[in-house]
Amino acid sequence: MVGRGGEQTSLSEPAGMLVSIRRAVNDEVANLAQELGEQKDEDGPAFVCECGNPSCRATVRLTLIDYLACPPGSVLAHRPGKR
Ligand SMILES: [Zn+2]
Repeated sequence: MVGRGGEQTSLSEPAGMLVSIRRAVNDEVANLAQELGEQKDEDGPAFVCECGNPSCRATVRLTLIDYLACPPGSVLAHRPGKR
């Protein structure tokens, strides 16, 4: 349950939390793509950028193989730290 003083977690590193959320989304994308057999699309499905910027809506086309080789937080549509 929640409620044991979780104040320190959320605000100290919102970007990290966002990355985990985006990663969860991408895992779903990967699962779906796998189920649908999206492999005919050479570019692969569109994954969301894991840069951790809340206003970033960029997507990245990756094949499932490429995606699975990316550790969490490394699926990026652009160089992190810019803009
Ligand atoms: Zn981004």
